[in-house]
Amino acid sequence: MGRLNNKTALVTGASRGIGRATAMRLSEEGALVAVHYATNEAAARETVSSIEKNGGRAFPVRAELGASGDVHELFLGLEQGLKERTGDTTIDVVVNNAGETTPAGLAPEDVTPEQFDRLFAVNAKAPYFIVQRALNNLSDGGRVINISSGLTRFANPEQVAYSMSKGAIEQISLHFARHLASRRITVNTVAPGITNNGSEIFETPEIVEQMAQLSAFKRVGEAVDVADVVTFLASDEARWITGAFIDASGGTLLG
Ligand code: NDP
Repeated sequence: MGRLNNKTALVTGASRGIGRATAMRLSEEGALVAVHYATNEAAARETVSSIEKNGGRAFPVRAELGASGDVHELFLGLEQGLKERTGDTTIDVVVNNAGETTPAGLAPEDVTPEQFDRLFAVNAKAPYFIVQRALNNLSDGGRVINISSGLTRFANPEQVAYSMSKGAIEQISLHFARHLASRRITVNTVAPGITNNGSEIFETPEIVEQMAQLSAFKRVGEAVDVADVVTFLASDEARWITGAFIDASGGTLLG
Protein backbone atom coordinates (compact mmCIF):
# COMPACT_ATOMS: atom_id res chain seq x y z
CA MET A 1 0.00 0.00 0.00
CA GLY A 2 1.65 3.27 -1.13
CA ARG A 3 1.61 6.32 1.09
CA LEU A 4 0.17 8.37 -1.79
CA ASN A 5 -2.45 6.03 -3.22
CA ASN A 6 -5.27 7.94 -4.93
CA LYS A 7 -3.28 11.18 -4.76
CA THR A 8 -2.28 13.38 -7.68
CA ALA A 9 0.97 15.33 -7.95
CA LEU A 10 2.51 17.99 -10.17
CA VAL A 11 6.29 18.06 -10.30
CA THR A 12 7.72 20.95 -12.31
CA GLY A 13 10.97 20.23 -14.12
CA ALA A 14 10.42 16.48 -13.86
CA SER A 15 12.04 15.53 -17.16
CA ARG A 16 15.50 15.35 -15.58
CA GLY A 17 17.51 15.39 -12.36
CA ILE A 18 15.88 15.90 -8.96
CA GLY A 19 12.45 16.46 -10.53
CA ARG A 20 12.59 13.16 -12.38
CA ALA A 21 13.66 11.28 -9.25
CA THR A 22 10.87 12.99 -7.32
CA ALA A 23 8.27 12.06 -9.92
CA MET A 24 9.49 8.45 -9.77
CA ARG A 25 9.37 8.29 -5.97
CA LEU A 26 5.93 9.91 -5.72
CA SER A 27 4.61 7.47 -8.29
CA GLU A 28 6.15 4.52 -6.41
CA GLU A 29 4.05 5.63 -3.45
CA GLY A 30 0.94 5.47 -5.62
CA ALA A 31 0.49 9.06 -6.88
CA LEU A 32 -0.57 9.89 -10.41
CA VAL A 33 2.17 12.33 -11.47
CA ALA A 34 2.11 15.20 -13.96
CA VAL A 35 5.65 15.30 -15.36
CA HIS A 36 6.24 18.91 -16.32
CA TYR A 37 9.06 20.02 -18.65
CA ALA A 38 10.07 23.01 -20.76
CA THR A 39 11.61 21.81 -24.03
CA ASN A 40 13.07 18.35 -23.52
CA GLU A 41 10.06 16.30 -24.53
CA ALA A 42 12.10 13.14 -25.05
CA ALA A 43 13.39 13.29 -21.47
CA ALA A 44 9.89 13.92 -20.11
CA ARG A 45 8.57 10.95 -22.06
CA GLU A 46 11.42 8.83 -20.69
CA THR A 47 10.40 9.79 -17.14
CA VAL A 48 6.79 8.87 -17.89
CA SER A 49 7.72 5.54 -19.44
CA SER A 50 10.06 4.65 -16.52
CA ILE A 51 7.17 5.33 -14.15
CA GLU A 52 4.82 3.22 -16.25
CA LYS A 53 7.34 0.36 -16.45
CA ASN A 54 7.36 0.34 -12.64
CA GLY A 55 3.59 0.04 -12.62
CA GLY A 56 2.96 3.73 -11.84
CA ARG A 57 0.88 6.38 -13.56
CA ALA A 58 2.11 9.64 -15.10
CA PHE A 59 1.62 12.00 -18.01
CA PRO A 60 3.76 14.80 -19.51
CA VAL A 61 2.85 18.50 -19.39
CA ARG A 62 4.78 21.13 -21.35
CA ALA A 63 5.15 24.80 -20.41
CA GLU A 64 8.17 27.05 -20.54
CA LEU A 65 8.19 28.90 -17.24
CA GLY A 66 9.34 32.49 -17.52
CA ALA A 67 7.57 32.90 -20.89
CA SER A 68 4.37 34.85 -21.25
CA GLY A 69 1.27 32.80 -20.34
CA ASP A 70 3.43 30.10 -18.73
CA VAL A 71 1.25 29.23 -15.75
CA HIS A 72 -1.93 29.30 -17.84
CA GLU A 73 -0.39 26.86 -20.34
CA LEU A 74 0.85 24.63 -17.53
CA PHE A 75 -2.58 24.38 -15.92
CA LEU A 76 -4.35 23.79 -19.25
CA GLY A 77 -2.21 20.68 -19.77
CA LEU A 78 -2.35 19.68 -16.13
CA GLU A 79 -6.12 19.93 -15.81
CA GLN A 80 -6.71 18.14 -19.11
CA GLY A 81 -4.39 15.31 -18.11
CA LEU A 82 -5.98 14.97 -14.68
CA LYS A 83 -9.51 15.08 -16.03
CA GLU A 84 -8.82 12.34 -18.57
CA ARG A 85 -7.41 10.07 -15.88
CA THR A 86 -9.35 10.86 -12.70
CA GLY A 87 -12.50 12.62 -13.88
CA ASP A 88 -11.67 15.86 -12.06
CA THR A 89 -8.86 18.39 -11.64
CA THR A 90 -7.96 17.94 -7.99
CA ILE A 91 -4.28 18.14 -7.16
CA ASP A 92 -2.87 16.93 -3.85
CA VAL A 93 0.85 17.67 -4.18
CA VAL A 94 2.61 20.53 -5.97
CA VAL A 95 6.39 20.39 -6.19
CA ASN A 96 7.95 23.61 -7.48
CA ASN A 97 11.21 22.08 -8.65
CA ALA A 98 12.00 23.57 -12.09
CA GLY A 99 14.83 26.04 -11.88
CA GLU A 100 17.61 27.70 -13.81
CA THR A 101 21.04 28.84 -12.57
CA THR A 102 23.37 31.67 -13.46
CA PRO A 103 25.61 30.52 -16.35
CA ALA A 104 28.76 28.83 -14.95
CA GLY A 105 31.77 31.08 -14.61
CA LEU A 106 29.78 34.32 -14.77
CA ALA A 107 31.14 36.83 -12.25
CA PRO A 108 28.53 38.84 -10.30
CA GLU A 109 29.92 41.96 -12.02
CA ASP A 110 28.86 40.56 -15.39
CA VAL A 111 25.27 39.47 -14.71
CA THR A 112 22.96 41.45 -17.01
CA PRO A 113 19.52 42.79 -16.02
CA GLU A 114 18.03 40.36 -18.58
CA GLN A 115 19.76 37.36 -16.95
CA PHE A 116 18.67 38.56 -13.52
CA ASP A 117 15.06 39.00 -14.64
CA ARG A 118 15.04 35.54 -16.22
CA LEU A 119 16.25 33.90 -13.00
CA PHE A 120 13.53 35.61 -11.02
CA ALA A 121 10.88 34.84 -13.64
CA VAL A 122 11.63 31.10 -13.62
CA ASN A 123 12.75 30.51 -10.03
CA ALA A 124 10.51 32.88 -8.08
CA LYS A 125 7.68 34.43 -10.09
CA ALA A 126 6.52 31.21 -11.78
CA PRO A 127 6.41 29.21 -8.50
CA TYR A 128 4.43 32.02 -6.85
CA PHE A 129 1.82 32.05 -9.58
CA ILE A 130 1.76 28.25 -9.75
CA VAL A 131 0.83 28.18 -6.06
CA GLN A 132 -1.69 30.98 -6.55
CA ARG A 133 -3.30 29.16 -9.51
CA ALA A 134 -3.16 25.78 -7.76
CA LEU A 135 -5.31 27.06 -4.89
CA ASN A 136 -8.37 26.28 -7.04
CA ASN A 137 -7.26 22.68 -7.44
CA LEU A 138 -5.47 21.83 -4.19
CA SER A 139 -7.27 19.42 -1.90
CA ASP A 140 -7.62 20.16 1.80
CA GLY A 141 -4.66 18.49 3.48
CA GLY A 142 -2.63 19.03 0.29
CA ARG A 143 1.07 19.73 -0.01
CA VAL A 144 3.23 22.41 -1.61
CA ILE A 145 6.96 21.73 -1.67
CA ASN A 146 9.34 24.39 -2.97
CA ILE A 147 12.85 23.45 -4.03
CA SER A 148 15.37 26.07 -2.98
CA SER A 149 19.12 25.61 -2.58
CA GLY A 150 21.73 25.44 0.14
CA LEU A 151 23.14 28.54 -1.54
CA THR A 152 20.70 30.71 0.39
CA ARG A 153 22.97 29.91 3.36
CA PHE A 154 26.34 29.13 1.76
CA ALA A 155 28.17 31.91 -0.07
CA ASN A 156 29.04 31.42 -3.74
CA PRO A 157 29.52 34.78 -5.48
CA GLU A 158 29.03 33.30 -8.96
CA GLN A 159 25.48 32.41 -7.96
CA VAL A 160 24.37 35.56 -6.16
CA ALA A 161 21.48 36.31 -8.54
CA TYR A 162 20.36 32.66 -8.54
CA SER A 163 20.58 32.53 -4.74
CA MET A 164 18.53 35.71 -4.46
CA SER A 165 15.79 34.05 -6.52
CA LYS A 166 15.96 30.99 -4.28
CA GLY A 167 15.68 33.22 -1.22
CA ALA A 168 12.46 34.45 -2.76
CA ILE A 169 10.96 30.97 -3.23
CA GLU A 170 11.59 30.28 0.46
CA GLN A 171 9.27 33.18 1.28
CA ILE A 172 6.45 31.38 -0.54
CA SER A 173 6.77 28.57 2.00
CA LEU A 174 6.86 30.84 5.04
CA HIS A 175 3.88 33.00 4.20
CA PHE A 176 1.66 30.54 2.34
CA ALA A 177 2.14 28.05 5.19
CA ARG A 178 0.30 30.47 7.46
CA HIS A 179 -2.24 31.35 4.76
CA LEU A 180 -3.18 27.76 3.93
CA ALA A 181 -3.03 26.15 7.36
CA SER A 182 -6.80 26.50 7.79
CA ARG A 183 -7.11 24.03 4.89
CA ARG A 184 -4.45 21.73 6.43
CA ILE A 185 -2.26 22.38 3.38
CA THR A 186 1.42 22.32 4.33
CA VAL A 187 3.98 24.44 2.49
CA ASN A 188 7.66 23.66 2.93
CA THR A 189 11.06 24.31 1.42
CA VAL A 190 13.64 21.65 0.59
CA ALA A 191 17.17 22.92 0.02
CA PRO A 192 19.50 20.52 -1.81
CA GLY A 193 23.27 20.82 -1.83
CA ILE A 194 25.31 19.68 -4.81
CA THR A 195 23.24 16.90 -6.34
CA ASN A 196 24.06 14.66 -9.28
CA ASN A 197 21.44 15.62 -11.85
CA GLY A 198 23.02 13.60 -14.64
CA SER A 199 24.68 16.61 -16.25
CA GLU A 200 28.15 16.39 -17.81
CA ILE A 201 30.04 17.84 -14.85
CA PHE A 202 29.21 14.73 -12.82
CA GLU A 203 31.16 12.61 -15.33
CA THR A 204 34.53 14.15 -14.34
CA PRO A 205 35.79 12.24 -11.27
CA GLU A 206 38.21 14.98 -10.10
CA ILE A 207 35.46 17.61 -10.10
CA VAL A 208 33.03 15.25 -8.37
CA GLU A 209 35.68 14.56 -5.73
CA GLN A 210 36.10 18.30 -5.08
CA MET A 211 32.37 18.83 -4.85
CA ALA A 212 32.02 15.83 -2.54
CA GLN A 213 34.27 17.49 0.04
CA LEU A 214 31.58 20.12 0.69
CA SER A 215 29.21 17.57 2.19
CA ALA A 216 29.68 16.26 5.74
CA PHE A 217 29.35 12.78 4.21
CA LYS A 218 32.06 13.49 1.59
CA ARG A 219 29.95 12.57 -1.40
CA VAL A 220 27.72 14.49 -3.78
CA GLY A 221 24.00 14.00 -3.34
CA GLU A 222 22.05 11.70 -5.61
CA ALA A 223 18.75 12.98 -6.98
CA VAL A 224 16.91 10.31 -4.99
CA ASP A 225 18.45 11.64 -1.74
CA VAL A 226 16.43 14.80 -2.29
CA ALA A 227 13.42 13.01 -3.80
CA ASP A 228 13.04 10.91 -0.65
CA VAL A 229 12.82 14.06 1.49
CA VAL A 230 10.21 15.56 -0.84
CA THR A 231 8.24 12.29 -0.78
CA PHE A 232 8.24 12.27 3.01
CA LEU A 233 6.93 15.86 3.06
CA ALA A 234 4.21 14.81 0.60
CA SER A 235 3.08 11.99 2.87
CA ASP A 236 0.60 12.09 5.73
CA GLU A 237 3.50 11.42 8.11
CA ALA A 238 4.65 15.02 7.54
CA ARG A 239 1.27 16.60 8.35
CA TRP A 240 2.70 18.49 11.36
CA ILE A 241 5.50 20.19 9.40
CA THR A 242 4.72 23.45 7.67
CA GLY A 243 6.64 26.60 6.81
CA ALA A 244 9.87 24.69 7.35
CA PHE A 245 13.24 24.98 5.65
CA ILE A 246 14.56 21.44 5.28
CA ASP A 247 18.29 21.20 4.67
CA ALA A 248 18.77 18.31 2.22
CA SER A 249 22.41 19.07 1.51
CA GLY A 250 24.08 16.11 3.22
CA GLY A 251 25.38 18.41 5.94
CA THR A 252 26.99 20.93 3.58
CA LEU A 253 25.53 23.76 5.65
CA LEU A 254 27.24 22.51 8.81
CA GLY A 255 30.38 24.25 7.55
P1 NDP B 1 18.12 19.97 -14.02
O1 NDP B 1 18.90 21.10 -14.58
O2 NDP B 1 18.67 18.60 -14.06
O3 NDP B 1 16.67 19.95 -14.68
C1 NDP B 1 15.94 21.13 -14.72
C2 NDP B 1 14.49 20.78 -14.93
O4 NDP B 1 13.73 21.99 -14.91
C3 NDP B 1 14.24 20.14 -16.28
O5 NDP B 1 13.15 19.27 -16.15
C4 NDP B 1 13.89 21.32 -17.16
O6 NDP B 1 13.05 20.97 -18.26
C5 NDP B 1 13.14 22.18 -16.17
N1 NDP B 1 13.25 23.60 -16.51
C6 NDP B 1 14.37 24.36 -16.53
N2 NDP B 1 14.06 25.61 -16.91
C7 NDP B 1 12.73 25.63 -17.12
C8 NDP B 1 11.82 26.62 -17.55
N3 NDP B 1 12.21 27.86 -17.85
N4 NDP B 1 10.53 26.27 -17.68
C9 NDP B 1 10.10 25.03 -17.38
N5 NDP B 1 10.92 24.06 -16.98
C10 NDP B 1 12.21 24.35 -16.85
O7 NDP B 1 17.73 20.40 -12.52
P2 NDP B 1 18.29 19.87 -11.12
O8 NDP B 1 17.74 18.52 -10.86
O9 NDP B 1 19.74 20.11 -11.03
O10 NDP B 1 17.61 20.93 -10.12
C11 NDP B 1 16.26 20.85 -9.74
C12 NDP B 1 16.01 21.95 -8.72
O11 NDP B 1 16.90 21.81 -7.62
C13 NDP B 1 16.23 23.35 -9.27
O12 NDP B 1 15.28 24.23 -8.74
C14 NDP B 1 17.62 23.71 -8.77
O13 NDP B 1 17.80 25.10 -8.63
C15 NDP B 1 17.62 23.00 -7.42
N6 NDP B 1 18.95 22.69 -6.94
C16 NDP B 1 19.75 21.82 -7.63
C17 NDP B 1 21.02 21.51 -7.16
C18 NDP B 1 21.93 20.56 -7.87
O14 NDP B 1 23.10 20.46 -7.47
N7 NDP B 1 21.47 19.83 -8.87
C19 NDP B 1 21.53 22.15 -5.93
C20 NDP B 1 20.60 23.02 -5.29
C21 NDP B 1 19.36 23.27 -5.77
P3 NDP B 1 13.69 20.53 -19.69
O15 NDP B 1 14.25 19.16 -19.49
O16 NDP B 1 12.55 20.55 -20.64
O17 NDP B 1 14.76 21.54 -20.01
